[in-house]
Amino acid sequence: MFRYFNSAQIPAAAKAFNDAEKLVLRQFRMGQDDLRKSRYDVKTLAFLEEHEVKDGAFAHLCKYAYETPSAQGQDGKEEIEFYRVCLQDNIILDAVDRANSFIKLSPLLLYIAVHELIHVLRFQNGDMDFHAPADKKAQEEVIVHNLTRQALQPVNHEHMDIVLDCFSGQFTIGD
Ligand SMILES: [Zn+2]
Repeated sequence: MFRYFNSAQIPAAAKAFNDAEKLVLRQFRMGQDDLRKSRYDVKTLAFLEEHEVKDGAFAHLCKYAYETPSAQGQDGKEEIEFYRVCLQDNIILDAVDRANSFIKLSPLLLYIAVHELIHVLRFQNGDMDFHAPADKKAQEEVIVHNLTRQALQPVNHEHMDIVLDCFSGQFTIGD
């Protein structure tokens, strides 16, 4: 059986993404509107579709496209792309358990949130292609991890360093 975030952990995840937005906006010198343009949402395990569930990663980033009526677009339509951060509650909770209180849930969630938001922004800016080959994606993980570390610098959390040191490859990008 999968383990899911409980009624205290779900709002903790939402708060992590709120805090992460502020950190990432500051790092990239962007306004709130720039981030709102980059359409994304966040779902926890209980709300994921089957293909959004991924073993062995804290989060799985999915890209979707849909059409919307638009005066500027071709045929009166415009294609909108958006990203869904699919949190894998069970993997995250297991990591916290295994670490025997060295790793706390809230800094881990903040780290995951910043990391995923940086991915979303880089895909949307065209800095990185969502469908790039595996070796490019591996390079991208290193870049994103370093940017995440920088973005988290203003966060004075005693448990953040250990999170940064322990986890750098626990993410996947999929479609
Ligand atoms: Zn990543």
